[in-house]
Amino acid sequence: MQRPRILVVEDDARSQRLFRDILELAGYDVCQARSVEEGRCRLRDAVPALVVMDIQLPGGGGELLLSEMREDPLLPRIPVIAVTAFAMAGDRQRLIQAGFDGYISKPIDTRSFAETIAAILEEHANGQ
Ligand SMILES: [Mg+2]
Repeated sequence: MQRPRILVVEDDARSQRLFRDILELAGYDVCQARSVEEGRCRLRDAVPALVVMDIQLPGGGGELLLSEMREDPLLPRIPVIAVTAFAMAGDRQRLIQAGFDGYISKPIDTRSFAETIAAILEEHANGQ
C-alpha cells in the first residue's frame, strides 16, 4: 500500500525538520514547501492526503493558501491542519472558522502530533 502523502508548508527550518521526522517515522510520505508560492507548486505536482500549514508564511500566509485551495475546483477537499506559534485565546476558533480542519499550537507535542494527524485523516476518510 502506498504511504499517504502529507504536504508540510512551513518556513521555519527547525520546525520543517521536526515535522518531517515525526511524520516519516509515523509512515507518511512527506513533501515540503517553505512559502505560499512553493505550497501552490507542490499542490500542482501531486494532491496530498493532508496538508500541515503554518500560518505565518512568506507570500501571503497560511489562510491565503487555504482559501485558494478551497476555491480551486480541480483540487479535492483535503484536510488542512493549521500550526501556529501565536496561540492566543480565540485563535483556534478563528482558524476553524476560516476553514481549517484542525489546529495545533507550537511548540508542538511531539508525542501527540502524529496521532492528531492520523485522527484527522481517519475522520476525513469517514466523511466527517
Ligand atoms: Mg512561519
